[in-house]
Amino acid sequence: MQLFTKRIDVREEDIFSDLHHFLLRKNNRYLTNDEVVALTGVSSELLYKWVKAGKLKKSIFPNLGVPCERCGQITQTKICVSCSSIIVSTLKQEEKDRAWFNQIQRNNQRASTYHYK
Ligand SMILES: [Zn+2]
Repeated sequence: MQLFTKRIDVREEDIFSDLHHFLLRKNNRYLTNDEVVALTGVSSELLYKWVKAGKLKKSIFPNLGVPCERCGQITQTKICVSCSSIIVSTLKQEEKDRAWFNQIQRNNQRASTYHYK
């Protein structure tokens, strides 16, 4: 089903209001990005744009999302759950590395102080 013809003179706002009406129909609120694109022919870029801008509210359309900034998987937040856990563990590792590096530095300092005595 193509709801929207691909005419170039169709304004973005018109597409939006058609899409919005379509989505507000009873069973359409829970569509995902891919389903909306397949059903309406609206480009996923426009969809992302509207979700990002808050025109398609997450509270009303819980399955719509934008690509994760790290891996591109569709998510309701800026960064998906798996990426944010990777980032957190990377940060923790960096902290450990830094602590280890500081430790080495301290040891070196002690060693060189010792050396120059
Ligand atoms: Zn991700």
